[in-house]
This record gives sequence, structure tokens and C-alpha cells, in this order.
Amino acid sequence: MATIFSRIIAGEIPSYKVAENDQFFAFLDINPMAKGHTLVVPKQEVDYLFDLDDKTLGDMQIFAKKVAKAIEKAVPCKRVGQMVIGLEVPHAHIHLIPINKESDMVLSNPKLKLATEEFQEIAKKINDAFAEENK
Ligand code: 5GP
Repeated sequence: MATIFSRIIAGEIPSYKVAENDQFFAFLDINPMAKGHTLVVPKQEVDYLFDLDDKTLGDMQIFAKKVAKAIEKAVPCKRVGQMVIGLEVPHAHIHLIPINKESDMVLSNPKLKLATEEFQEIAKKINDAFAEENK
């Protein structure tokens, strides 16, 4: 059965998409640790990030870098932190999280509750910045 992320990539489940290319898809985390918290996933359905072949993992990190640059432009923050967990959804993904201090990366922090319009607005800003950077 397809993972929830494959169903998001296929458009069967809605998401706030921020970027896409032929190999990867990036969208806002539905339970964000910060405004702009984004997940980068390969279209190839592999459970564990570190089981990806070297070329795909390298390409994914480069794609994540481009998304991180777009997040930096769209969301006020000192840095974009990167995290890999993968215990909840069995489809490899990288978390990109706008941060201002170390504790912004603590997983047990309460998650933000955002309105649909806020998700849409953030996704559009990141998507616009990504398109501008990569035209
Ligand atoms: P992990 O597998 O890295 O522990 O966590 C999975 C992440 O995916 C969580 O941060 C969770 O909020 C996010 N997530 C799980 N299901 C969905 C979903 O259907 N849509 C979106 N946008 N994010 C999801």
C-alpha cells in the first residue's frame, strides 16, 4: 500500500506544496514546530533515508538545500535546521525547520496550530522564493 507521503505526492491527499522536481517533493509539515517547517521527500518510496542509493541521497540533499534557501527568504529566521527522524511515516524524509535558537529544534516542543490561510500563505511565499531562485 502507498505511504501517506506517496499519496500526497500523487495529489490524492491535499498538502501545502512548496517545491517539486522530477525526483523530490517538498511540502509543509501539518504539525509544524515553526512556521515554514517543511518536509522534503523522494518520489521513490523508500522507508529509511539512509537506504537511499548514494546518488539519490546526494541529489535529495542538494534539493533540500535549495528549499532551505527559499525558506530563509520567505520566513524570518536565523537559520534553517535540518533533522531526520522517520519513526512516524515509513517514507524517507528530511525536516527543514526555521530556527532562531537551539531549543527550536527540540522535538517535544508543542506544535503550532495554524489556520489553513496561514499554511497557504507560507507555502506560497516559499514556493515563490524557490521559483525565483531556480528560474
Ligand atoms: P517522523 O516520521 O519524521 O517522525 O515524522 C513525520 C512527520 O510527518 C511529522 O512531523 C508529522 O507531523 C508529519 N506528517 C504526518 N502525516 C502528515 C500528513 O498527512 N501531512 C503532512 N503535511 N505532514 C504529515
